[in-house]
Amino acid sequence: MDGKQGAVPNGAYFPFASFAVKKVSPSYRGRFAPSPTGPLHFGSLVAAVGSFLDARAAGGEWRVRIEDLDPPREVPGAADAILRSLEALGLHWDGEVLYQSRRAEYYAAALERLARDGLVYPCACTRREVREQGVDGVVYPGTCRNGLPPGRTARTLRVRVDGARIAFADRLLGAFEQDLPREVGDFVLRRADGLAAYQLAVVVDDAAQGINQVVRGSDLLDSTARQIHLQRLLGLPAPAYLHLPVAAHADGSKLSKQTFAPAIDTREGAALARRVLAFLGQPLPDEALDLDELWCWSAARWDPARIPARRAIPVAPGT
Ligand code: GLU
Repeated sequence: MDGKQGAVPNGAYFPFASFAVKKVSPSYRGRFAPSPTGPLHFGSLVAAVGSFLDARAAGGEWRVRIEDLDPPREVPGAADAILRSLEALGLHWDGEVLYQSRRAEYYAAALERLARDGLVYPCACTRREVREQGVDGVVYPGTCRNGLPPGRTARTLRVRVDGARIAFADRLLGAFEQDLPREVGDFVLRRADGLAAYQLAVVVDDAAQGINQVVRGSDLLDSTARQIHLQRLLGLPAPAYLHLPVAAHADGSKLSKQTFAPAIDTREGAALARRVLAFLGQPLPDEALDLDELWCWSAARWDPARIPARRAIPVAPGT
């Protein structure tokens, strides 16, 4: 049996069917999980290439998951544009693309399971209230954890983090530890608009897709402890993690749609690929290679130890 067990014809997976047998594939399976909030920019391409080469170097699979979980932030056509850019750059994925927008029932099932175990509770607090009352404006102060205050109605569902001090070893950045009660507090799993929160969806989907290696940008390093906490509560296997440096503007802010990072131009082809490889500290061939040859050459020489062990690296303006 492989991670596809429990697959139904439309390509969705039954996550809890596969967890029941506790089968963890010993072979490598990684993924790239873009949010379709805009076209690929250099920063997101770094995550695509890093996860792709790490998988190919291990002879493993590389999946693509479109994290279209947040309709208000989604840009129409962006998901297709991202997939076309990956194809144009020869970053060919395995299996079917998974779309989070089609998986609400699986997120609901995971929430039900946590609710059965008494691990989630309704919360009435607005973001603003948490900002005003929370420790450092971010840590949830626990206002609703023993019941909704009189006269208030539930907005979100939060998961309890009691005593969760999570330690893990990032493959690049090394030991990392987060004391969830002190640094995060109980966190939201179902948002006020009824949608599953990113932390829940990513954990359910990584398990459902049999992902055992996560390679992504270091902007998500701080989410990892929350995800490991959820994996433990749901009895799911924890993947290994490697957080890549993110491409940053000169002022240190991450390249993103919000900071007006330009879309990549796939017509640049191998020249663009070489810039990504250089960013990731990887060797470059002397000879001119086309994209397919270049990825093969790079996968054969992929060395994660050469990736700069930094959270962010500035790139030239206009990158
Ligand atoms: N969808 C997230 C993003 O585009 C990435 C999620 C992940 O890799 O876990 O930032």
